[in-house]
Amino acid sequence: MTALRSLLHDAALALISARCSDDLDEGRLEAELLYGEVSGLSRASVIARGGEEASGETVTQFEGLLGRRLSHEPLAYILGRRECYGMTFEVEPGVLIPRPDTETLIEVTLTAVRAHPGARRLVRVADVGTGSGLVGLAVAKHAVATKVYSLDSSTTALAAAGRNRKRFGLESRVVLLAGYLLESLPERVDVVTANLPYVPTAVIETLAAEVREWEPAGALDGGADGLDVIRALVGQLAEHLVDGPRAVLLEVGVGQASEVAELMEAVVGGTARVHLDLGGVERVVEVRRGF
Ligand code: GLN
Repeated sequence: MTALRSLLHDAALALISARCSDDLDEGRLEAELLYGEVSGLSRASVIARGGEEASGETVTQFEGLLGRRLSHEPLAYILGRRECYGMTFEVEPGVLIPRPDTETLIEVTLTAVRAHPGARRLVRVADVGTGSGLVGLAVAKHAVATKVYSLDSSTTALAAAGRNRKRFGLESRVVLLAGYLLESLPERVDVVTANLPYVPTAVIETLAAEVREWEPAGALDGGADGLDVIRALVGQLAEHLVDGPRAVLLEVGVGQASEVAELMEAVVGGTARVHLDLGGVERVVEVRRGF
């Protein structure tokens, strides 16, 4: 018999030694979430019961999940979900795990949608490379006068996006489409938003094992300079954006904003604005035309 508190403390130390967690706070958080998963308890209850004995089947199951985490499987894949922008998204291998960086893209997209002259009727939005559905579903949930097309070339991603769409009851306002970038759009849209792959190929192998070995390369690898997919999208914009008021918002990696801004200005017109994420990194490039 072991006290739950010491079981979790030892697990946190093991997570730090394996370089899965950066510090004790993160290690404890991960251990508490894994224990909550097997015991059906909230994280608060897990902490409150620290003085009780932990034994039997629950400990065995906990050790199973901990073993997976120690081999660098991402916590979100073990739990099957990740919270982002106050919403819980189902994820699985093959689907990029929502990141806090992308909350900036969601915020900036919502601001553009609300400012768009069509906001009192309907703004048509395309979320390209939707993955778990994160950006399109968050926009649809928080801006009611929208019709969202969420596009992806991965059927695994679209299946997850479909489950998440159902979870948030957004079936009537979010259309999921398979295809390459904007190609399958049935009509022109007012706003294009996207978190496309933008990591330069050579950088992929330097990423944490959790990302490199588990997350889909197709959602990360942007080719030699990281901008291959963004360039391909920009090349499709003229055909799929309305001629009237329009906006394009793209998430980018460190140091990519000015080049992407130039590409977008050349096609959409207007002057690009660059938005910082919470870590102060230039994360989102926005171009608006006509509003
Ligand atoms: N920010 C992500 C990472 O560095 C990359 C996401 C992307 O390529 N869109 O892991």
